[in-house]
Amino acid sequence: MAYATVNPFTNEQLKVFPNATDTEVDTALDKAHAAFLSWRETSFAQRAKVMQNAADILRRDIDSYSRLLTLEMGKLFAEAKAETELSAAIFEYYAKHAEALLVPEDLPVADPQEGRAKIVHQPLGILLAVEPWNFPFYQVARIIAPQLSAGNTIVLKHASNVPQCAAAMDKLMIEAGLPDGAFRNLYPNYTQISRIIADPRVRGVALTGSEGAGAQVASEAGLALKKCTMELGGADAFIVLEDADLEKTVKWAVFGRHWNAGQVCVSSKRMIIVDSIYDEFLARYREGVAKLKMGDPMDPTTTLAPLSSQGAVDGLRKQVERAVKAGAKAEEIPLDQPNSGAFFRPVILTDVDENNPAMREEFFGPVSMLFRVKDEDDAVRIANDSPYGLGGSVFTRDEARGERVAKRIETGMVFVNHPTMVKADLPFGGVLRSGFGRELVGLGIKEFVNHKLIDVVDIDAPF
Ligand code: NAP
Repeated sequence: MAYATVNPFTNEQLKVFPNATDTEVDTALDKAHAAFLSWRETSFAQRAKVMQNAADILRRDIDSYSRLLTLEMGKLFAEAKAETELSAAIFEYYAKHAEALLVPEDLPVADPQEGRAKIVHQPLGILLAVEPWNFPFYQVARIIAPQLSAGNTIVLKHASNVPQCAAAMDKLMIEAGLPDGAFRNLYPNYTQISRIIADPRVRGVALTGSEGAGAQVASEAGLALKKCTMELGGADAFIVLEDADLEKTVKWAVFGRHWNAGQVCVSSKRMIIVDSIYDEFLARYREGVAKLKMGDPMDPTTTLAPLSSQGAVDGLRKQVERAVKAGAKAEEIPLDQPNSGAFFRPVILTDVDENNPAMREEFFGPVSMLFRVKDEDDAVRIANDSPYGLGGSVFTRDEARGERVAKRIETGMVFVNHPTMVKADLPFGGVLRSGFGRELVGLGIKEFVNHKLIDVVDIDAPF
């Protein structure tokens, strides 16, 4: 694999980065370990200062950081700025809350003779973060802000198509005042990744990406008996019940499926609509999608960005062809398309039956699947008929009903009357083939700490 910047709007290769040498990998691990030994002793206040600095720098230089996102993976510049701000908010969240989230917990014991028992949350050591290209800063912030705040140190392997974004995060943390080696971006090959996972100084692995990468990296972590978290793919259900506010629901459906050019693990990929309103929903949805505008992601009037690469376009096209071969109907929305770039016209898939492979796949781009269902129970049945369990939505004017339905959906996150949201102060993660573990808030910071029991017992107490 070669680390390179290819602008998806022009398909032009702009810069290639050499792979890390074995010596660079070794040096990064040596330095990350040395940094851990002192970083774990620093106060929360010192760590918070570095996190706040990172937030402030991202906000100060938001345009230049955001331009890199658009350059390397093609997202709309407005979305790039929102991502940079979200990343800043995550650093700030942990600057403010890390200490309270990791405060030692006194344990109520049945018998005072058991002692004064408490749990302290201590960092583990070096972590390996393997991250995807679809949110090049947010994904990194989601792991490094909590874990550096907890006292761990981190080696990053970012996706091969966003090497400049990866380097920018490295530079950001140095400028924020993080000690040398406590966070290092590398451009390793997969063999070097295996070696990093096996290194005894590396104590955990956090991966966000596809099922394939997750299965491979999790199995290596398992062999080395290392804790890992897996944030993998998704095929979020977007349930529309008969009492939904249709106009607003359709607006959210168009947005939920097409922001970030549909390349979001929690995009609203499967729309499940109750029969009585299905036809009207489809008509309005088609109309909404037809209003999208493809074009230069730096142009503020563009609303549908190119995909991240020509390879992504070709792969998605093949998936649609497979779905059609298995009986689905595909309707391409005839948007004007720029002459160059990794563009993909939105497709609406209907008549996807239970045996269609599309039922078990993630479409990472602007392909919407629409399902007509009898009623609420049928909607829940289709929503849960998926190998994935990441996010999901229920649209209804009756919020109590929405919550009841949300509880029946087998995923890590469900939103009532909104597509799955990403925020600095909400947890993120899934179940089933969408992975395990959670990122952000208190759940995230506690994934890679030793929840150590310390019990101070009277020496004369009975055993
Ligand atoms: P990907 O191909 O799995 O890549 C993710 C990362 O894993 C990249 O850094 C990649 O490096 C690395 N990787 C792949 N195979 C590896 C191996 N055998 N050993 C070590 N590293 C390996 O996924 P992607 O296409 O970049 O991202 C899209 C996927 O991520 C989608 O399925 C999406 O749903 C999922 N995702 C999930 C979440 C979540 O929070 N649940 C968030 C965002 C995205 P290279 O680039 O060098 O191959």
